[in-house]
Amino acid sequence: MADFDYDLFVIGGGSGGTRAARVAAGETGARVGLAEESRYGGTCVIRGCVPKKLMVFASEYGGIASDAQGYGWSMERGSFDWQAFSGHLQKELDRLESIYRDTLLKGSGVTTYDARARLRDPHTVELSTGEVLSAKHILVATGGRPVRPDIPNADLGLVSDDIFGLPELPKSILIVGGGYIACEFACILNGLGVDVTQYYRGAQILRGFDEEARGLIADAMSARGIDLHTGTDVIEIGHPDDRPSGAGTNMYAAPASERQSGAEQGGQARPDRGGPVRVKTSTGREAVFDAVFFATGRAPNTADMGLEEAGVKLGRGGAVAVDKYSQTSVPSIYAIGDVTNRVNLTPVAIREGMAFVETVFRGNPTPADHEMIPSAVFTQPEFGTVGLTEEQAMEQEEIEVYCTSFRPMQTAFIGRPDRVLMKLVVSKETRRVLGCHIVAPGAGEMIQLAGIAVKMGATKEDFDRTVAVHPTMAEEIVTMRKPVRSG
Ligand code: NDP
Repeated sequence: MADFDYDLFVIGGGSGGTRAARVAAGETGARVGLAEESRYGGTCVIRGCVPKKLMVFASEYGGIASDAQGYGWSMERGSFDWQAFSGHLQKELDRLESIYRDTLLKGSGVTTYDARARLRDPHTVELSTGEVLSAKHILVATGGRPVRPDIPNADLGLVSDDIFGLPELPKSILIVGGGYIACEFACILNGLGVDVTQYYRGAQILRGFDEEARGLIADAMSARGIDLHTGTDVIEIGHPDDRPSGAGTNMYAAPASERQSGAEQGGQARPDRGGPVRVKTSTGREAVFDAVFFATGRAPNTADMGLEEAGVKLGRGGAVAVDKYSQTSVPSIYAIGDVTNRVNLTPVAIREGMAFVETVFRGNPTPADHEMIPSAVFTQPEFGTVGLTEEQAMEQEEIEVYCTSFRPMQTAFIGRPDRVLMKLVVSKETRRVLGCHIVAPGAGEMIQLAGIAVKMGATKEDFDRTVAVHPTMAEEIVTMRKPVRSG
């Protein structure tokens, strides 16, 4: 048998790669090397879930003073200091990165390489440092990256990687897109006091999620001051002073908030990415924003890695094609996480990494389980979801829909119009809850727990015989007696 430098070489030190490496090394005794070209922790820890959630927290404090006044407190709203927050955030990310590199990886006996790795053949990687290393198994866990739309000057816009390190917050921003990242950052930046406009090309934001929930979130976002335009796509982008001839007087044919920021910026020298940008839309709208943020999707990191040369087949959009065990077309090479573009969520990448270790290093073939994955979109209000949408379930079988939307006690008391939504999609035949959708403050926390019952195959009657916790919002999930629709 060939003598390899390592039993496993992992490319990418994000959530999935780190978990697989440290469990293989720490719990099965495998000799493991890992290369990371950027920062340990990857998208989730450094430029995704973690800093995003901290920004969600930061953005929610702005409304506290006025809410507290409604409850009898005398409290005035202060101002938000981006530099203070951002300095603290960068320190926290440094701390987390060192936990990934030192505690989790080195502490488990993984040898780390701060370098870019390319495949040379099915058992060999070459590093940007010039080192060449062999391994019995190679795990590709290189994640994904944000992509801008294919229009001229798109690089004038920011992407999610740029947001956490902004030197200062823009006064106005255009967010392009209607997915997770677009909607979450529209709410975050709005909460931090930025004048937010959002353009989405489709009819309703959050495509693929439950229709009723999408509608409620879109209404809530607009009610909170986000200038949301659906059916609107960006067709042209440029510096404000590089107007194509003929744009003339139509330049600021946009709402007052947009006009103001355009007027403030007009005629100044334009910095590169992140500076004021003129945008023209498919609907004929033209406006200037202090910044444009493209949240228009992500692509797998597979370019220039030697994958195809080594025989690894790529699928749609350049994602690594894998089987249910995360094995690629080359038996010694596996891939997990966003680079495979299956379900692009951190906990899923971690599960795929664990299943890989179980399969390859414990001799127990274990497919990654992609059924009934609960997830949350951290909009304001939050959205927690597990299982099928009403629309998906209806395609599949006869269903009953149990749904309630109401003004929760805490904010109704102070006259806020906020509404929440609790919805169960139930199979008529088996009575199993096929989907649960919650739009409410804290919905991410709620769906984690509801997700256990749904994953276990709970029926509507199981929910019904669970006693309500009173008074809470979540109690409605066990007190809905009559279906609002069936079919
Ligand atoms: P999404 O795929 O969710 O959304 C991309 C959005 O951009 C869609 O609204 C899409 O429109 C639009 N879009 C795509 N291309 C263009 C274009 N050329 N011009 C205009 N609009 C365009 O991607 P995200 O980047 O928001 O998120 C990536 C993934 O990251 C998510 O799918 C999710 O798995 C994960 N994620 C999870 C989070 C969480 O769990 N809370 C948070 C953030 C990310 P259309 O709908 O018409 O295709």
